[in-house]
Amino acid sequence: MEILLAKDMGFCWGVRRAIDIMETAAKEHGEIISVGPIVHNPQVVRELEEMGIRTNVKPEGDEHPVAITAHGVGPQVIDEVNKTGAKIIDGTCPIVTRSQRWARKMAEGGFTVLVFGDPDHREVRGVLGWAGDKAIAVRDGDPLPSPLPSRVAVISQTTQSPERFAEFVGRLMRDHVSEITELRLINTLCNVTSGQQAAARELAQETDVMLVVGGKTSANTKHLLEVCHEEGTTAYHIENAAEVEPEWLESCERVGVTAGASTPDSAVEAVVTRVRDIANEFDATRAPVQS
Ligand code: SF4
Repeated sequence: MEILLAKDMGFCWGVRRAIDIMETAAKEHGEIISVGPIVHNPQVVRELEEMGIRTNVKPEGDEHPVAITAHGVGPQVIDEVNKTGAKIIDGTCPIVTRSQRWARKMAEGGFTVLVFGDPDHREVRGVLGWAGDKAIAVRDGDPLPSPLPSRVAVISQTTQSPERFAEFVGRLMRDHVSEITELRLINTLCNVTSGQQAAARELAQETDVMLVVGGKTSANTKHLLEVCHEEGTTAYHIENAAEVEPEWLESCERVGVTAGASTPDSAVEAVVTRVRDIANEFDATRAPVQS
């Protein structure tokens, strides 16, 4: 059995940067409180907790600094923290900050901001916050608000697939062009995740099964899984090596592995080791009996 790794996968620079910022702050302050998990990866979150980075959805008093994760937050959260007097450690990914700035700028310019993405995702909730009450999030496949306001700015959750974002904009124009007088389209997609999706798509085309490693709540990992399914390849979303079932790999010649932007290299290495062990067990079972 051959194990092939996607050319582009795993920790992105935005997540690495956020973790570096948190680690430095934890060393300096002893303990910090993160507004939500720093990344969607339980392993990394556990390691960071051991270093004194506690995850808490609600900012507490000013006893400890409060960390904002790579996904960013809305201005309301920043105001709340400021009221407590706590120091803010900002780990927001600059690509997300760019999205937030566009959302605010467009809303201030009188546009209604349509955010293509998951309204329940922390990044999207934060971006919506920057546009005040002039923003609506639309999940992939959901109907667009009707009637649409006449001046519309469209941005995307950073981790969406470029193909789906393009389809969304096409649907907007096809079905609602008569309602729109002015449309601004801002490409806020993250090129790291787009690159990882392209690499996963390429690998899915040449493998029998794909293993997609990443936190179960990680949006970019879920998109990698979708991309593999779009190629018609059997694919499994796993958080760790223990989840790999031997029956998934039976009669497979080529197994592909990819990983989300918040998956550490150690998790990928563990999966590769597990697949190799399973392949060795298969070989041992199939070995001809010597007479
Ligand atoms: S996936 Fe992209 S937007 Fe998200 S943290 Fe990484 S670099 Fe930033």
